[in-house]
Amino acid sequence: MSDDVLRIAVLGAAGRVGRRVVAAVLEATDLGLVAAVTRPGSDLVYQDAGRVAGVAFSGIPLGTPEKDCFFDADVVIDFSLPGGLREALPFLGDCALVTGTTGLDADTEALVAAHAAKAPVIQAANFSTGVNVLLGLAAIAARALPDHDVEIVEAHHRHKKDAPSGTALALAAAIGEGRGEAPILDHGRHGLAPRVAGHVGLHALRMGDVVGEHQVWLAGEGDRVLLGHVATSRDTFAHGALRAARFTRGRAPGRYTMRDVLGLT
Ligand code: NAD
Repeated sequence: MSDDVLRIAVLGAAGRVGRRVVAAVLEATDLGLVAAVTRPGSDLVYQDAGRVAGVAFSGIPLGTPEKDCFFDADVVIDFSLPGGLREALPFLGDCALVTGTTGLDADTEALVAAHAAKAPVIQAANFSTGVNVLLGLAAIAARALPDHDVEIVEAHHRHKKDAPSGTALALAAAIGEGRGEAPILDHGRHGLAPRVAGHVGLHALRMGDVVGEHQVWLAGEGDRVLLGHVATSRDTFAHGALRAARFTRGRAPGRYTMRDVLGLT
């Protein structure tokens, strides 16, 4: 592998998103797959990462989080589960980290923050470049329409474990950014639950094979604004994560955002 090639390890490589990341890395001429890591005890351990991703033989067998599993990598791209990231973090060394795993507990968040003292870290609830544009638009709309009621609706496939989605929470944070204060969130409504002025409502739909859809409603007296994004395949997350991985090259340790990656800051 030439020195110009950015060496990528994928954590969660056998997962729904991880497989698309593996496929996208194998397709890219400026990136090289050097490690692919999955859950200990998985039937897929030792199987070829490319084949598991449904593409060509890669020569990289699926391994598990353990000492030296990332030693050859410049960047670890993580789409595992909170336990997977937590287990793998001690083995990252000074690799850059691009992490999309959502639903992290406070201890794992603290470990991610600590890693940023050693290497560039890009953490995003959603690596889709379109969603990151939506985050910026939501902040602009919230600033310009301070009295409009905001309701966020998200839909995901039936297997998704955490709710609301990390992206819905990021959208709520963008609303807060636009309005200059963190919003109070109302998660769904049930029974006697009138709207409270200024609160942001969040609603999570779980159904079928929906990849990921987010809508932000801003409703006032006489009009409604609807901003939205639809992910049509997991390739959107994979390609955004690859763009983030490329961005880490030559960067100082620290935390960066997808807005930095997209030049929106
Ligand atoms: P998935 O369940 O299909 O894949 C998770 C993978 O992680 C599996 O292959 C599993 O074997 C592996 N894993 C679990 N425990 C592990 C461990 N201890 N060590 C190593 N690997 C382990 O899930 P998915 O739909 O691919 O989503 C993965 C994560 O990414 C979730 O947290 C999801 O919410 C998040 N996600 C983020 C984005 C984004 O853009 N940020 C987009 C989609 C999904």
